[in-house]
Amino acid sequence: MKTVLITGSSRGIGLGLVKEYVKNGYKVVATCRDPETASDLKSTLAETNQPSAIALDVASDDSIFKAAEEVSKIVDSIDILINNAGVAAKNHPNDPAIGVDREDALRVYSTNVIGPLKVTEAFLPLLRKGNEKKVVIISSLLGSIANCKGGRTTYSCSKAAVNMATMCLSREVTDLTFATLHPGHVQTDMGSSGGRSAPVTVEESALGMYNVISKLKMEDSGLFCDWNGCKLPW
Ligand code: NDP
Repeated sequence: MKTVLITGSSRGIGLGLVKEYVKNGYKVVATCRDPETASDLKSTLAETNQPSAIALDVASDDSIFKAAEEVSKIVDSIDILINNAGVAAKNHPNDPAIGVDREDALRVYSTNVIGPLKVTEAFLPLLRKGNEKKVVIISSLLGSIANCKGGRTTYSCSKAAVNMATMCLSREVTDLTFATLHPGHVQTDMGSSGGRSAPVTVEESALGMYNVISKLKMEDSGLFCDWNGCKLPW
């Protein structure tokens, strides 16, 4: 049975990915900040005989490495790591470049950029024991410099940075496949913030990304594409 580990599984796209991988017969190691309060996740895992969720706060190295220790007690290897957890700036999507909030930007950077790097580092030994050896980072089209339309500054900078982090990982860790995916504009707390109406459902996004990830090959390492597999400009 293949194993997938997903961060930020309590709600939104992370929870959608958990459900998609369960449906496809994977062992799912779901992680989130507070497993006790993640009631939808808890019931999904219990109903499908999956292991209980593991606490993992991607903004804390202690939490990340403690989670890696816990996970190594329940699985011998991980086939796919999905770095999904992410946050937007407090004033997202109205976040002009002039007047950026330093403290908030550091919080977003720590979660969206350092988070996936440290999570990948912590789970590298288990990933190397897996067959698939894939690491996916949920980024955003807003991280595409070529596509920049202004605004959403803090979040866009963090996603551009995590795109670079993905590329750096792919150059350095050549025995694993790395990809950064835009999930679409999805109907989640984040996608609907500021009264926006998002066109893509969580289920559509999760299924699309499941298909893209399934088809990823070693030679794709460093890919930036959307949930339908369309390549995106950096
Ligand atoms: P939501 O705001 O709905 O959910 C965010 C998830 O990330 C929650 O599970 C949240 O956990 C978790 N999270 C936040 N901070 C941390 C942390 N420090 N440690 C662990 N988990 C954390 O967002 P989405 O589901 O929409 O977003 C998921 C990913 O997709 C993000 O990376 C986002 O940037 C990206 N994305 C989303 C788009 C969209 O349209 N929705 C578009 C492009 C990209 P908790 O419940 O504890 O807060």
